Amino acid sequence: APAFEAPDFYEIDDLLSDDQKLVRSSMRDFVNREISPIIEDCAQRAEFPAFLVPKLGEIGAFGPTIPAEYGGGGLDSISYGLMMQEIERGDSGLRSCVSVQSSLVMWPIYTYGSEDQKRKYLPRLATGELLGCFGLTEPDHGSNPAGMQTSFVEHSDHYLLNGSKLWITNSPVADVAVVWAKNEQGRVRGLLVDRGLEGFSTPEIHSKWSLRASATGELVFQDVKVPKENLLPETDGIKSPLRCLDQARYGIAWGVVGAAMDCYDSARRYALERQQFGKPIAAFQLVQKKLAEMLTEITRAQLICWRLGTLKNAGKATTAQISLAKRNNVEMALNVVREARQIHGAMGISGEYPIMRHLMNLESVVTYEGTHDIHLLILGNEITGIPAFK
Ligand code: FAD
Repeated sequence: APAFEAPDFYEIDDLLSDDQKLVRSSMRDFVNREISPIIEDCAQRAEFPAFLVPKLGEIGAFGPTIPAEYGGGGLDSISYGLMMQEIERGDSGLRSCVSVQSSLVMWPIYTYGSEDQKRKYLPRLATGELLGCFGLTEPDHGSNPAGMQTSFVEHSDHYLLNGSKLWITNSPVADVAVVWAKNEQGRVRGLLVDRGLEGFSTPEIHSKWSLRASATGELVFQDVKVPKENLLPETDGIKSPLRCLDQARYGIAWGVVGAAMDCYDSARRYALERQQFGKPIAAFQLVQKKLAEMLTEITRAQLICWRLGTLKNAGKATTAQISLAKRNNVEMALNVVREARQIHGAMGISGEYPIMRHLMNLESVVTYEGTHDIHLLILGNEITGIPAFK
């Protein structure tokens, strides 16, 4: 396959530092070399390519913004965003795995953990020696995680944890779970639950049509004895997991641009090569309209990412600003990928092209980390001061 050419119609590259461009080009090479050649097959067989985990660690994909003293990359938020963009150009499932590890496992341990917890977990999560997952969603509590039922009680030298989590990325393969549960006072706290504890199981969810190269499962706790030192000491209430989601959603806003860019690039090439009625289909106005609108949408999303990244680097990006970006960019990517699917004709549904895989993947991305409509209501609340989701 020809090398991917990233659209950059507004020369947004001029806004990036040399270091940021270097991070992106090394991740782009990694995706070309390690992910693109194998990912279609993994997705078709619904297999998580676990052998990529140490390689992703080696290239610095895990915890890029965590300080180097804990094994992280010490990079800025735009570099992190560019990494997510490249990985999701490869596959949203792998980007999900990396987002969870960086934003939903390493970030909370770094932000809410004790010094001992940071030293114990972060360096090994950074190399990929350990893989983590994040358990917030429950069978009966998705958009409203504050209603969670998973709970723990104090019991001599440990906590006794009971409940279950559903739709948890990485759960079947994770070594450690960041689990959100209520204490005896009904306050949400975070616990680090290691694989192997008695009463803790992680059944896999099979028969997904989306994110097939990502392992998704449950977390089931039946009187699990969690050592007291595994409570994340700085967690306090539902805002603690929600702050983690801000980190992950930020990465998603960048990531989906990668999926859209991949499909646009493929559609542009295909339209120039594919002949019908004696000319390339790119010569027809309706195909040009699709390509022109795809490029316009991608350009807008790229500018949103860059600006949000600069705000985040300055410590100013708000939850509502991140909601706007996540919501807009995922919808943008779905629209671009659907148009690309049409331009590819029948080939658009074939595994010879990445289009249908991206399209099916994005159907999860539009739902997880806050659904499309919930982000709209977060914005509505920001504008009016009235929370319509309650
Ligand atoms: P529901 O909350 O039941 O929503 C169903 C529909 O109702 C949606 O359209 C929603 O927008 C709408 N709705 C709900 N409430 C309102 C309201 N107040 N106003 C208007 N509309 C409303 N969770 C984790 O904790 N960790 C993970 O690693 C993780 N990984 C995932 C991986 C995949 C592949 C998927 C699909 C999900 C994952 N999730 C994970 C769960 C995900 O975050 C939830 O699916 C999401 O929050 C939505 O919850 P729900 O599916 O229960 O839908």
